Amino acid sequence: MTAKLIKGTEIRDEILKEIEAGVKDIKEKHGVVPGLVTILVGENPASISYVTAKIKTAKALGFNEIQDNQSPDMTTEELLVLIDKYNKDDAINGILVQLPLPKGVDEKKVLNAIDPDKDVDGFHPINVGRLMIGGPEVKFPPCTPAGIQEMIVRSGIETSGAEVVVVGRSNIVGKPIANMMLQKADGANATVTIVHTRTKDLAAHCKRADILIVAAGVPGLVKPEWIKPGACVIDVGVNRVGEKISEKTGKKIALLKGDVDFDEAKEIAGYITPVPGGVGPMTITMLMKNTLNSLKFKLGLM
Ligand code: NAP
Repeated sequence: MTAKLIKGTEIRDEILKEIEAGVKDIKEKHGVVPGLVTILVGENPASISYVTAKIKTAKALGFNEIQDNQSPDMTTEELLVLIDKYNKDDAINGILVQLPLPKGVDEKKVLNAIDPDKDVDGFHPINVGRLMIGGPEVKFPPCTPAGIQEMIVRSGIETSGAEVVVVGRSNIVGKPIANMMLQKADGANATVTIVHTRTKDLAAHCKRADILIVAAGVPGLVKPEWIKPGACVIDVGVNRVGEKISEKTGKKIALLKGDVDFDEAKEIAGYITPVPGGVGPMTITMLMKNTLNSLKFKLGLM
């Protein structure tokens, strides 16, 4: 069997169109657009590239985007004052602090200072709690798990009663996606298992999965023989395994591999995400959706 490819780029484009239409609609009816501030402290090259991509997407969607670059020697206290300013700013619906923050800055204190109603990353303990409760309590599902769920649902995969196995228990991917898939809700209602480094028989759990979500950060961890024939395989892993020359630009770029051996797995799975071009493009998209929703919550439209 050759699996159907779940292309993150296609689903991303579909959702971005919906967001763009939502922005236009609110602008026409209410005269406002979503406001997003991205706070970048220091000059970490990877952070600059993530922030640049977020800003570009936000601007293309018609958001009011504020780029707030700060010096690498900013203190925790100074950052808290800055966050307080944006918490009180009526034109701002989403506050993003790009991680990692420079050494010496109390990351937890900073993230917890963001108004939970502007925490579009969904990392604030209040939003983690809301996600746990589920239903209408949920305001901002964390972006990568939200993107994974969209990919599953928009590919027409049945989740109700499905055996979902999640490899990895991080706070940003494993735990939230497991929690989202077990909610009593459309696109969920699954029977969920989370596995990790202390799990006794990883293979046996994976083999049961109708939907296998792998977020371990270990290239090729999931072997093809662990995949149930016809299963949906969502490979979240992004692992740099070397360099290659880009066909587009002729420049050296990172060679990326997922946590699943794609070439062999695609012959067994029913659906599979590629790396790159799978889950990756979904994260920023869902961040934009959360920012639009933040404005909708404020206007009482949700
Ligand atoms: P993380 O915080 O390092 O967590 C990895 C999890 O995988 C841990 O729970 C760990 O178990 C488990 N794990 C690691 N090796 C394992 C093994 N051999 N067997 C079983 N479980 C194992 O990673 P993360 O932040 O969740 O990210 C995971 C991967 O997803 C990374 O490759 C990351 O780059 C990628 N990612 C992609 C996106 C995107 O595409 N937008 C977003 C986020 C992350 P323990 O808890 O027992 O240590």
